[in-house]
Amino acid sequence: MSIEHLSDVVISQIAAGEVIERPASVVKELIENALDAGATTIHVASERGGQRLIRVSDNGSGIPSDEVEVAFARHATSKLRVAEDLNHLLTLGFRGEALSSIASVSRTTLTTRHRDEQIGSEIRLEGGALIRQQPIGAPAGTVITVEDLFFNTPARLKFLKTEATEKRYINSIVSRYAMAYPAVRFVYEQDRRELFGTTGSGQLADVIVKVMGIEQFKQSIEVSSSEKAIDNRPEIQVFGYTSLPELTRGDRTQITLFVNGRWIQDTRLTYAIVQAYQTFIPSNRYPIAVLMIDLPPDEVDVNVHPAKAEVRFRHPDHVFAALQRAVRETIIASQQPGEQRFRKYDEENIVQVSRGSWNSHIQLDLNLSEVQNSGTMVEKSDQFNADTAIPDGPDAPHRPRTLPPLRVIGQIGAMYIVAEGPAGMYLIDQNAAHTRIIYETLLEQYEAGQDNIRQVSTGETIELTTDEAKIVEQYTDDIARMGLKLEIFGPATFIIRGLPTAIPDNISSSHRMVQDMAKSLDKAKTSEIIASIANAIASYSATKAGQILDIGQMREIIRKLERCASPHTAPDGRATLIHLSGDQLAREFARS
Ligand code: ADP
Ligand code: MG
Repeated sequence: MSIEHLSDVVISQIAAGEVIERPASVVKELIENALDAGATTIHVASERGGQRLIRVSDNGSGIPSDEVEVAFARHATSKLRVAEDLNHLLTLGFRGEALSSIASVSRTTLTTRHRDEQIGSEIRLEGGALIRQQPIGAPAGTVITVEDLFFNTPARLKFLKTEATEKRYINSIVSRYAMAYPAVRFVYEQDRRELFGTTGSGQLADVIVKVMGIEQFKQSIEVSSSEKAIDNRPEIQVFGYTSLPELTRGDRTQITLFVNGRWIQDTRLTYAIVQAYQTFIPSNRYPIAVLMIDLPPDEVDVNVHPAKAEVRFRHPDHVFAALQRAVRETIIASQQPGEQRFRKYDEENIVQVSRGSWNSHIQLDLNLSEVQNSGTMVEKSDQFNADTAIPDGPDAPHRPRTLPPLRVIGQIGAMYIVAEGPAGMYLIDQNAAHTRIIYETLLEQYEAGQDNIRQVSTGETIELTTDEAKIVEQYTDDIARMGLKLEIFGPATFIIRGLPTAIPDNISSSHRMVQDMAKSLDKAKTSEIIASIANAIASYSATKAGQILDIGQMREIIRKLERCASPHTAPDGRATLIHLSGDQLAREFARS
């Protein structure tokens, strides 16, 4: 072939490969255009996973009739004139590629009337070729209908996933934009059935209730933080919603980030959020979050990705830190007892488990008759009575309650404590709960600088590898401040001279405890050192599964757990308790 210039249509089709990957990309670009046009109401409709039809209607500015055709030309935009404009862009679009790309791989009809004009216009393109253009009566605003997407690019068509999957992608785009723009009314119709509609009230909470449902909203906490500019650190605002530690997912897909109103994907920032949950949720679980980051436009380079799905920050570390701080502080605050938390516990039983997870526990080892015969069922259950709950005696910790008062009923399978509270039944994992208690006590004592070492007369010796020994030696002071006094006793060998008062005196695996500590200290970041030490000590000294407890021991665990700052999880993120509300019990027994 001789060298020739490609036609505009072919160029657009090639570009479409980058901008329009799937039906959901069309939806995204059209919603962005509607938002840029200042729409306050946006209707989105899709049929057959968007492949048959996508329609986005808005009540925005509309397009002047003499600009309708040029809007479909490549690199035609009203949003940018010179490259310098990129530095203070306030619109979502700027590349002038979306309409031409979409039109080149579909049959597109656009009806629009600019708000200052009397008569509107309609234009139709098929595979990028102009089919017709005519004046038409229309309300102010724009309606774009995209039919038969990829009809002329069979390779693309083949790459589409199942209709159900494409529907999910579209749904997630519309709901995410609805959340990022609570002041805009979004209505989403799928196969001619309305899936959701938001009110445009401006309240993110309203949108979340509409889009995700009231149940999920109840398990969300509001993030709202604003950091002022200092030195070269820009002003950064973070706001939105993130899930309580009780509500998690098996992957990161439910973490959504917007930067200056633009939906972006950023693995580092996603990691910042995941990390903020450390010790609150298990390491293989992920939160659900919708978070908006706002910062001055010149702090972000939006022009690094054809679909504008990635951005580059001038100060990425500041953004990372601000986001992580905002989320972490919100989670910690949510775990503190307060008026609101308390009300939630009493009325709404926020720590609910789904039927599924409860059932799996039943199958696990709830063989009640066997347990009763073996005599570990310590007390019979009678009506819950707050008076019989463990009293807050004089030696009770001064910390405020984080759980309602629980009454111990007994132990199951030498693993779980059964307790009753004002709102149903609780199953407590004795090992996870005790680990949490020791962990928090160790940290509290460490911070208070209390004398918390119990001397040991005949200390156990602990042999380590040279690498392990080096690490332990480096942190001996911190370890001692936590109550574990190790003294060098030979090459790579230590002797235990003292143990923390916070742990039982009969721990059996001190050797593995120190080894594990060395291992986690080796990997720990500076900020994680103290927590790693406490975690290792707590994990190896807590009551184990399989240990039969008497009623006094169980009460002691429950009484302390009720006042832990984060009573719902062990430091490694495992759940400490399962709550089965009266309602759930009634449902299990088909009483309601
Ligand atoms: P970009 O958004 O990057 O400018 P597009 O190809 O998406 O490029 O759109 C081209 C131009 O068409 C926009 O700059 C805008 O002037 C106009 N336009 C597109 N959609 C709309 C709409 N819904 N309302 C008003 N104007 C629109
Ligand atoms: Mg655009």
